[in-house]
Amino acid sequence: MSDSCVFCRIAAGTIPASIVAENDHALAFRDLHPQAPVHVLVIPRRHVASLAAADRPDELGALLALAAAVAKTAGLEESGYRVVTNIGEDGGQTVHHLHLHVLGGRPMAWPPG
Ligand code: 5GP
Ligand code: ZN
Repeated sequence: MSDSCVFCRIAAGTIPASIVAENDHALAFRDLHPQAPVHVLVIPRRHVASLAAADRPDELGALLALAAAVAKTAGLEESGYRVVTNIGEDGGQTVHHLHLHVLGGRPMAWPPG
């Protein structure tokens, strides 16, 4: 837990978030500034800076499983959706606590900007 990390504080319950799902390792909540009709963030409960710092396959599996469960609950399985994680400066990461974006409810462009 890092006091200066906004996602650690959400995981600890000290700042509010709209939580939509959770499991032993991970928590899913709505993005504050949604970029699609469905935009949920999936984070590990413990502080991990990014995918580049991830060192526990069980935790990564739990994150992916929760992302798929969130998409299913949101009714995105048939239409499709996107799961993305930004890493570092070129990746566009702004919050340095590993998170998966689950985006859906509209067609996604490729290549990404
Ligand atoms: P990144 O740019 O690091 O991949 O994504 C960070 C995401 O976190 C952004 O989409 C941003 O809107 C979201 N975000 C930043 N601060 C908060 C917050 O306090 N609460 C929630 N729910 N989302 C946040
Ligand atoms: Zn953190």
